[in-house]
Amino acid sequence: MTAADVAIVGTGPNGLAAGVTMARAGLRVELYEAAGTIGGGLRSEALFDEGVVHDVCSAVHPMAAASPFFREFDLAARGVELLHPEISYAHPLDGGRAGLAHRDLAATCAGLGPDGDRWRRLMEPLLARSRGLVDLILSDQRSIPRDVVAALRLGTRMLSHGTRVGAGGFVTEEAPALLTGVAAHGLGKLPSLGSAAVAMLLGHLAHGTGWPLPRGGSARIADALAEDITAHSGAFRTGHRVTDLRELSGARAVLLDTSAKGLLELAGDRLPRRYARALERFRYGPAAAKVDFLLSEPIPWANPGVGRAGTVHLGGTREEMCRQETANARGVPSEEPFVLLVEPAVTDPGRARSGKWPVWAYAHVPNGDDRDPLRLVRSHIERYAPGFGDTVLEQRSITGVDYERYNPNYVGGDIGSGAMTLRQSIARPTARLDPYSTPLPGVFLCSAATPPGPSVHGMSGYLAARSALRRRFGVRTTPSLAPGARPEAAARSGGG
Ligand SMILES: Cc1cc2nc3c(=O)[nH]c(=O)nc-3n(C[C@H](O)[C@H](O)[C@H](O)COP(=O)(O)OP(=O)(O)OC[C@H]3O[C@@H](n4cnc5c(N)ncnc54)[C@H](O)[C@@H]3O)c2cc1C
Repeated sequence: MTAADVAIVGTGPNGLAAGVTMARAGLRVELYEAAGTIGGGLRSEALFDEGVVHDVCSAVHPMAAASPFFREFDLAARGVELLHPEISYAHPLDGGRAGLAHRDLAATCAGLGPDGDRWRRLMEPLLARSRGLVDLILSDQRSIPRDVVAALRLGTRMLSHGTRVGAGGFVTEEAPALLTGVAAHGLGKLPSLGSAAVAMLLGHLAHGTGWPLPRGGSARIADALAEDITAHSGAFRTGHRVTDLRELSGARAVLLDTSAKGLLELAGDRLPRRYARALERFRYGPAAAKVDFLLSEPIPWANPGVGRAGTVHLGGTREEMCRQETANARGVPSEEPFVLLVEPAVTDPGRARSGKWPVWAYAHVPNGDDRDPLRLVRSHIERYAPGFGDTVLEQRSITGVDYERYNPNYVGGDIGSGAMTLRQSIARPTARLDPYSTPLPGVFLCSAATPPGPSVHGMSGYLAARSALRRRFGVRTTPSLAPGARPEAAARSGGG
């Protein structure tokens, strides 16, 4: 039983975004978190050394820099500094070669030689409609696109880069590897239309609002959201795993920042059979298995440009990545899986100490994989940075299965909260008109298991909160989230 108007289960970025929105509407909000600290995918910890922080999950924030929720919330005004690397991401290849995606589009094109012009023609039109493209993809996937030109530009590029026939027309190995490395963020089969949409969104942002890291670690973002909730009378209960929705009776709205499986568990047999079956059929995607390192010095990349990048993709050529990622999505483990790597101190020098250099890296592995990723990740880095092993002071690994123990939302280690197939990016978690509402009155799903899906953008929480405000409290005007804006007074008495 709770005395709050709104109970929120889970404090990942979406639970927190929902909390901010509901509290700003003048409602009493209570947030429950199973772990000892808030943040979900936004936690940072000193893993090896008191003075050196590692991000436990998310590290790089192109979505937080661009999303409509964070645009309005305004992280900068709340003291969260998003720092930009000179090179947004890099993709090393054998023989000391590398594709480098500078924040500056012209510098990128110059470095891509004969493919430079093609890269410019791919990205420039998207950059010109960036706001429309971001708002289209980071939406509930049900509204008519406001920027039809952006939608058309996205659609044509998805067709030419998301199928086997259209490999994009590049002539070198660097440019297609660069683009496919971004598509691999979709954690699924390659090529595919869904992963091509991811490549276009993240790919153009690398030259626009950027792929920044928050100064001091990802937890800074969670702290800023939590401060706003507390300032508007919200309360947190950490170390409390909710096991049954009946615990929250008394709240007029319950928002679940949980997986689809979590919703099934919490609701027990109260869900209508048809809806429960649809949730059971919801498919989970590949897992992440992570390794954190403490090094004595920066990674000795064969190509020095890679060492100036905020994010590094290790996956070899486009063909290698298509083979590995497709096999991985089918549950076949690879000896050389795709690896995402970040040396945070390249962008935020304060993250390193003398002789202590943090590295964050995770591999794509099949769902439910319990292999220790240490050997695989180390040998993959060594391929492009001979001598890497000599710099390792400390290391810690987390298997795909461990990730679900760490956070129940990562089912089988799936950090995307459900496979991001084209179908499941819309029918997320089911094909309801309002994907945030459930058949249980007053119960809403607000996690990355709803559109627009994974990443730290806060949009699932924000859109779910707006749905709850409308349906449960009769509030049709979205409260202002801007720093210093006064909360609405009317919500508590309205609606039904
Ligand atoms: C290794 C890794 C790297 C990533 N890298 C990036 C990145 O660089 N950039 C990026 O944008 N995204 C990244 N992501 C993805 C991003 O972290 C997630 O998409 C995002 O955190 C999802 O937000 P959420 O609020 O839906 O859920 P989560 O962040 O998963 O939070 C859910 C919270 O709910 C709690 N919870 C669940 N069930 C219950 C219950 N019954 N009772 C109480 N509490 C409960 C959990 O403990 C958890 O704290 C990464 C994820 C991982 C794991």
